[in-house]
Amino acid sequence: MPSLPLVLMLLWAVGSRGFPATSETREQDVEIVQKYLENYFNLKNDGKQFEKQRHSAPVVEKLKEMQKFFGLKVTGKPDPETLKVMKQPRCGVPDVAQFVLTEGNPRWQKTDLTYRIENYTPDLPKAEVDRAIEKAFQLWSNASPLRFTKVVEGQADIMISFVRGDHQDNSPFYGPGENLAHAFQPGPNIGGDAHFDEDETWTNNIQNYNLYRVAAHEFGHSLGLSHSTDIGALMYPTYTYSGDVQLAQDDIDGIQAIYGPSQNPIQPTGPQTPQACDSKISFDAVTTIRGEVMFFKDRFFMRTHPSYPEADLNFISDFWPLLPNGLEAAYEDAGRDQVRFFKGYRFWAVQGQDVLRGYPQDIYSSYGFPRTVKHIDAAVFEEETGKTFFFVGNKYWRYDEYKRSMDVGYPKMIAHGFPGIGHKVDAVFKKDGFFYFFHGTRQYKFDPKTKRILTLLKANSWFNCRKN
Ligand SMILES: [Zn+2]
Ligand SMILES: [Zn+2]
Repeated sequence: MPSLPLVLMLLWAVGSRGFPATSETREQDVEIVQKYLENYFNLKNDGKQFEKQRHSAPVVEKLKEMQKFFGLKVTGKPDPETLKVMKQPRCGVPDVAQFVLTEGNPRWQKTDLTYRIENYTPDLPKAEVDRAIEKAFQLWSNASPLRFTKVVEGQADIMISFVRGDHQDNSPFYGPGENLAHAFQPGPNIGGDAHFDEDETWTNNIQNYNLYRVAAHEFGHSLGLSHSTDIGALMYPTYTYSGDVQLAQDDIDGIQAIYGPSQNPIQPTGPQTPQACDSKISFDAVTTIRGEVMFFKDRFFMRTHPSYPEADLNFISDFWPLLPNGLEAAYEDAGRDQVRFFKGYRFWAVQGQDVLRGYPQDIYSSYGFPRTVKHIDAAVFEEETGKTFFFVGNKYWRYDEYKRSMDVGYPKMIAHGFPGIGHKVDAVFKKDGFFYFFHGTRQYKFDPKTKRILTLLKANSWFNCRKN
């Protein structure tokens, strides 16, 4: 087995490590926890040193509240996964607001709103700022009866500015990273206004931080939405950007709950975030990666993790910014420490978090598939024989990784080579000598030696789902 290279260990094995050992790190972490809970979960700072009170009831309760919000295992302790979340760049608006702000649901009493860009960041051409802001408002107007008009002078409902540090609204920014922007709920004066931290670098691309992405989130607050616990929602508090910005179904439900449906004849819909323990869940691709099993679905992948009660859900783009969403097949060649991902006729080779140079390649020139094959449903590598099995429709191919050629006599019928698993598969992976085939909500544990199904399982049997 190859040793686990560094980057991945740091990111993925963090859950198995103890609390950071050096006193210096610990002090830093204690400060992070305190500040985070004060800023975003309304922990009262009573002037006592946090170190002394970190096992106190209010701190433990606030930590639990934070862990629950982010879908972490509720331990009441600042475990490594909790700290990891706390260190992510995010929106400055609290997840749990002070009690005075939660009363009533603030909303605009009109649907025609104005906005004004008071000043511009030097990071981007002016026209690019205008465009990012306009597009961000468009996301919300597409899904609601709201209309936004830009004005260039006077008081607008939503005043937009780039400011830094303490800017006289009791919500200072703290320099680069950490919190990027904030916006106020609907109301007069500062109500609805959005502030972007000028200490950040604002971009119109994949580099941190994409202004359109952050503005789209902040305007949600300007319109009365609070943070969502749905990691796929634009209103989730931490920053992620995968190249496109869209309202998730959760965001659409949120804005329509306040202002009613859109006037478009066809109501807009957005992507739903998959739930590992949803009894109807199916997967696009499943593969082992360095000893873990990863389940791919739409924009996400899931894995079991001790810090998450059901499953750890991540954006594919957070780990592999160069991979597309909606991957269709994947297999690991552990000997080469490589995972290959397939979508359409293209595939990517990945080592740890790095997509290797020279990819994507096409399956025709690299594997010798005929042009009639438009995409791969599932793939799995068998290290004992050096063969990779590719499943396409009701047939399968066998590829020799050593000879680098397709074995003769293929494709064959799945029903012939893998009897009982049905005529089509969504995903397959191999573990401890067995193949696990996925089709819809079903999973088959298959013994390749005897060519028999050993067990019929639910597709999500690898997660800690309560039996129902
Ligand atoms: Zn926010
Ligand atoms: Zn502000």
